[in-house]
Amino acid sequence: MATLHSYVCGAFSTARGEEVALLDPATEETVATANCGGFDAEAALQHAREVGGRALRALSFAQRGELLARMAAAIHDHRDALIETSVRNGGTTRGGAKFDVDGAAGTLSAYAELGRRLGDARELGDGETVMIGRGAKLAGRHAWVAREGVALFINAFNFPAWGFAEKAATALLAGMPIINKPATATAWTAVRLAEILIEAAILPAGAFQQLLGPVKELLERLGPQDVVAFTGSSRTGVLVRSVPELLRHGVRVNVEADSLNAAVVGPDLDPDGAAWQTLLRDLVREISEKTGQKCTATRRVIVPQALLERLTAELADRLGGLKIGHPAHRDVEVGPLATRQQMEDVQRGCARMRAAAQVAFGRERPDALIDVPAGKGFFAGPMLFVARDERAVAAAHQDEIFGPVATVIPFDGGVEAAAALVRRGGGMLVSTVYSDDRAWSAGAARAMAPWVGRLCLVDSRSDGATLPPGMVLPDLVHGGPGRAGGGEELGGLRGVHHYMARTAFQGPRALVERLLEA
Ligand code: NAP
Repeated sequence: MATLHSYVCGAFSTARGEEVALLDPATEETVATANCGGFDAEAALQHAREVGGRALRALSFAQRGELLARMAAAIHDHRDALIETSVRNGGTTRGGAKFDVDGAAGTLSAYAELGRRLGDARELGDGETVMIGRGAKLAGRHAWVAREGVALFINAFNFPAWGFAEKAATALLAGMPIINKPATATAWTAVRLAEILIEAAILPAGAFQQLLGPVKELLERLGPQDVVAFTGSSRTGVLVRSVPELLRHGVRVNVEADSLNAAVVGPDLDPDGAAWQTLLRDLVREISEKTGQKCTATRRVIVPQALLERLTAELADRLGGLKIGHPAHRDVEVGPLATRQQMEDVQRGCARMRAAAQVAFGRERPDALIDVPAGKGFFAGPMLFVARDERAVAAAHQDEIFGPVATVIPFDGGVEAAAALVRRGGGMLVSTVYSDDRAWSAGAARAMAPWVGRLCLVDSRSDGATLPPGMVLPDLVHGGPGRAGGGEELGGLRGVHHYMARTAFQGPRALVERLLEA
């Protein structure tokens, strides 16, 4: 059985830490052991800053982009191995694992292409030169320059490959060395990915390290040039944000956290039309894919009262057709949750909903599991609730249930009523409006926009050309306000800026304009 180690200062760590068993969540068998902690945090930071940072900053954007292209190719070449660990240790179906692994390679490729377009530069101009004062001599200009610190990534359990790659693509392109701390429960895929990158000898020494186990000591040693990119629960996000040393040194912290994403149905939507079919397709996918353990999963379906019964019945019918069981089995569409803790959290959330709302479909522990030993596995749902009164609506907005669980909430069909419900989510990563009435869509989009990081619009004409809202795209910003953490990632060049410093240069026009060309 594999024993997994941190990769620190150019070698897999032999220091003894705490041994943590990693499980197959469908059978509860141990599949690997993680050696957590025991690494020298100070040495890791120094190696990144002194060796990795220097090497990366010496490269142009095009050269860094070339590194990303080679990382994408290495992941693609070892796709099957990564999918296998993801199925065995993450409980993901092959489809769910591909979503993670191909998403990782695709994101790195997109940023490789951006690097190629940025060419030989190592800094980026920002806006036009502005003239200062009355004369024609004094000018100002903004530019993005490389930071001299290290980028620490703390990742959630649900996307061990993509969650790492979307952060790595932007930080490495910006010229920052990275230290990745994957979630322990699903660390096998993250370690396999690290081995692939190290074997391929793509990155300069010090540009990449990976730590298993707690990173408290490392967080406490971060300084003014460093960046933390955190993805996980709001609760942990608050703990990370409030580390005193991060506050004291003004360390940049980006948080991606919980999200009560919404699907909003316009009152005009024809239940026999094309957009209705897209709505059902998206809902089934965004409730069940990766067993609902996606930050972008749909948690609330906001539907006009007149369409409530029909939508609930059709959605329940489709959810009822999903095959649940061991994710390695060919027929299985929904696997287990990743850990016992996840399962217990989902059960608690469903019990809270049961006490307040009507159950339209599902059971906390589904029966007829395919290829699963009797009584084993961390299985849950899918479950669909209907919130018919204020008590149920309030319960649906209390906490994110991180599993295949959604709540249908009726409204009167007006834009304001829909937007008011959306706002109760407290800020989300993604939401979708389904309507063929352009004026209604535009009104809803305008009212919802300040609360949503990415807003998808679907009508009957877009059928066939729409992407599921849960698909995060490298060219569009991923992040959301409020409960979703208030962070931003990706979005093309915007994502690279998080790992750079913006400086305003002021001085004689001739000098300022040519400063970064020297
Ligand atoms: P989590 O329990 O908050 O853990 C996230 C990461 O933080 C893990 O690597 C964990 O390490 C680490 N961690 C735990 N305690 C810490 C501490 N005191 N200081 C520093 N790091 C600490 O979240 P999760 O269960 O892995 O992920 C599920 C959550 O992530 C959901 O709430 C979901 O909404 C959110 N999520 C958000 C996004 C997004 O883009 N917005 C994407 C994916 C997931 P250990 O595993 O070693 O404990």
